[in-house]
Amino acid sequence: MNQTVYRKIPAIGNLLKDEEISRRFNRYPRKMVLEAMREVADRWRRRIRSGDALKADFSREAFLIEVDEDLEQKGKRSLKRVINATGVILNTNLGRAPLAPEAIAALSELSSGYSNLEIQLDTGQRGERYSHVDELLRKLTGAESTLVVNNNAAAVLLILDTFAKDKEVIVSRGELIEIGGSFRLPEVLKKSGAKLVEVGTTNRTYLSDYEDAINENTALLLKSHTSNYKIIGFTHRPTLDEFVELGKRHNVITVEDLGSGLFVDLTRFGLPYEPTVGDAVKSGLDLITFSGDKLLGGPQCGVILGKEDLIKKMKKNPLLRALRVCKLTLGALEAILRIYYYEEDPVQKIPHLKMITEPLSEIKRKANRLTKKIIPLFTDDLKIEIIEGKSEIGGGSYPGVEMPTYLVSLRSTNRSPMEIAKSLRESDPPVITRIADNRVLFDLRTIGEEEIPDLIKAIKQALS
Ligand SMILES: *Cc1c(COP(=O)(O)O)cnc(C)c1O
Repeated sequence: MNQTVYRKIPAIGNLLKDEEISRRFNRYPRKMVLEAMREVADRWRRRIRSGDALKADFSREAFLIEVDEDLEQKGKRSLKRVINATGVILNTNLGRAPLAPEAIAALSELSSGYSNLEIQLDTGQRGERYSHVDELLRKLTGAESTLVVNNNAAAVLLILDTFAKDKEVIVSRGELIEIGGSFRLPEVLKKSGAKLVEVGTTNRTYLSDYEDAINENTALLLKSHTSNYKIIGFTHRPTLDEFVELGKRHNVITVEDLGSGLFVDLTRFGLPYEPTVGDAVKSGLDLITFSGDKLLGGPQCGVILGKEDLIKKMKKNPLLRALRVCKLTLGALEAILRIYYYEEDPVQKIPHLKMITEPLSEIKRKANRLTKKIIPLFTDDLKIEIIEGKSEIGGGSYPGVEMPTYLVSLRSTNRSPMEIAKSLRESDPPVITRIADNRVLFDLRTIGEEEIPDLIKAIKQALS
């Protein structure tokens, strides 16, 4: 019995010779078609072997339909755009900040040809890639000197490697941070060959704790932004001014890992006060680091600001070569920095800042638009409604801060929210949602007006 069933699997060689089939799949490269056919044939063989093939349709057309479905998946890149319905604006898993159109234009121009990455156009002499963003960074922050590397983790590592190898770095026990994706400050320190000296307690660290730990082997006093947690209650930390003054008094370099790197004050939008990068520079810290793709809204990179002699030393460190950024990163970063420097209201020009500051009435309007289009799907076992909820900034900025928002909620009595969320993730483009209280939730704060038609299509498909 089995043997005759196996014979029903079409011979791939014959299929490939068939002109009609070639035409049917001519959108795809031949190699992809061949791979898909082989995979479908393997699947059919496994189905026959496992014995659940008796009722299956083994026609040639059924085979080709499966090939077609496989090709539709194969025809798409693995890394692709998704719709973020989670309401978390800076989500590392979803690629952090979306880029402004100006940055996208820079990427497109720079990637399609050559560029003056390391050549000075006036003299024809060799230039420095960092020069393309240096002046803007200095003008925007007041820093003496600047450097850009692959990400903030690389920025911290380069500082430690340059100044603290085989030396001591003093950190408060309240700031021994772990950021998602395995950035753990004690481990980064260990990797760099620096020795961690912990001072104070989790909730209280005094200036004298730092001071008592300083000795001739101390390289750095390191502060870290507690990006994803908050210590509240019976707490103490020295002010930034005290911290900086202590470093100066003992001739020890002071460093702050700012994490997110805020460039505009957002208190006028009702958010709590956070020091901006400019504030940190003004405090007199010797070195400051932050991510380019968190609150700044640029491409993935790590920015180091600081004293000229220190930055010069880092530029001579051979490790920099392994951490250096490419022309695309620099081009996109320059475009974003130009918006901050030249535009009247950067908040309106930079996508994630626009999301953070979007008026509730606007979010509600989008929720209404979405709901109106999916309400016809309403059945006895499916409930669609608009509810109030909270969005988060994410990306290690504003920990604990939630912003009011409107959510579209889907609840089905015959399909679990997990099942619906999975179908949505498999749509094109994929939709990433939140699940709570047995419902699938769509936060309209992170969904753009122009994404709504795709979202409607995905919801219809997921519920059909
Ligand atoms: C996010 C963050 C990092 C890691 O930054 P990457 O750009 O992801 O490497 C390090 N320190 C702090 C305080 C952060 O918030």
